[in-house]
Amino acid sequence: MIVGAYAVLRLDAVRHNLAKVRALAPAAKVMAVIKANGYGHGLLRIARVLADVDAFAVARVDEGIRLREAGCTHPISVLEGFTTVDALDTMLRYQLDTVVHCFEQLAILQNRPEQAQLSVWLKIDTGMNRLGFKASDFASVYQALQQCVIVKSPIGLMTHLASADEADDDLTCRQIHLFNEITNGYSVPRSIANSAGLMAWQEALSDWVRPGVMLYGISPFPDRTGRSLGLQPVMSLQSHLIAVKPIGKGETLGYGGSWRCEKSTTVGVVAIGYGDGYPRYAKVGTPVLVNGQRVPLIGRVSMDMITVDLASQPHAKPGDPVMLWGNELPVEEIADCANTIPYTLVCGITQRVQFIEV
Ligand SMILES: *Cc1c(COP(=O)(O)O)cnc(C)c1O
Repeated sequence: MIVGAYAVLRLDAVRHNLAKVRALAPAAKVMAVIKANGYGHGLLRIARVLADVDAFAVARVDEGIRLREAGCTHPISVLEGFTTVDALDTMLRYQLDTVVHCFEQLAILQNRPEQAQLSVWLKIDTGMNRLGFKASDFASVYQALQQCVIVKSPIGLMTHLASADEADDDLTCRQIHLFNEITNGYSVPRSIANSAGLMAWQEALSDWVRPGVMLYGISPFPDRTGRSLGLQPVMSLQSHLIAVKPIGKGETLGYGGSWRCEKSTTVGVVAIGYGDGYPRYAKVGTPVLVNGQRVPLIGRVSMDMITVDLASQPHAKPGDPVMLWGNELPVEEIADCANTIPYTLVCGITQRVQFIEV
């Protein structure tokens, strides 16, 4: 029995989106990014559906451990790598591959006597200015890593694009150019592209692609929907009406009384709120589907409930189905209404939401 909010996950859509990745980058190997609990869709569930990929990427060591303990045998890269000797030991125990992005990590590796145990992606900072070695340090770091007995060969080379979601972006051009220039002549695996790079920057495809958000059917570009890019949304967030009542002209609604009724109407109360991961800052007018029809959000989003204007559906009743985002209501549009990006919405689904696979 479902009480309250639930997320329906279409697993065939994940496979469709992976096929789209393969079609866009037929020569590349695919490292599927399933960090943050598979972008909120469930780490193990998504890993199971993506069994065909060449490798997985997660952000943290513990995410890699969860995969291994569930029996995952793929290569798993930990994008943030290790910070302590303990974390490195754990990575070795679970055969997790690491990204090496700073000198402190290099120093830890230089002290390790084990023979060829650890697969490494060397991360170069080409302009994101987050993780990675400066281009000017690359050659010496590469050489130092090669001399670390614990590091397996070949060492992969990677970088991350800061604004591949913008067309003809100058920074992206410079990043790709710089990466190619300094890694030219090293015959080792290379990787540049996230979802946006993969879809918009042919030059970024390289040997390995690292799609994340597109696998879940979500657009990496601000003014496109996944569907318009040929992707299929995986998650649809649903609930139902729990009360329907009239509200008179001049009355206010909800916390703070911030919404005032201009013309008497019918209010629908939906069992979903920020306690489920619905965005607290969704603005008045954000579309909600009640019985498959769009109605506007009114009043503030509270922890367990939202309110909608049912003027167009005076006969709606408690129990009627509600969709907050999904196939018929793009999560990208809801993100826009909440002044955020769709990544945060799917990552933010909370524990009490039931997940249903179809
Ligand atoms: C998260 C991440 C990705 C995937 O990004 P998307 O925009 O979700 O495709 C790829 N590479 C790195 C290093 C990341 O941190």
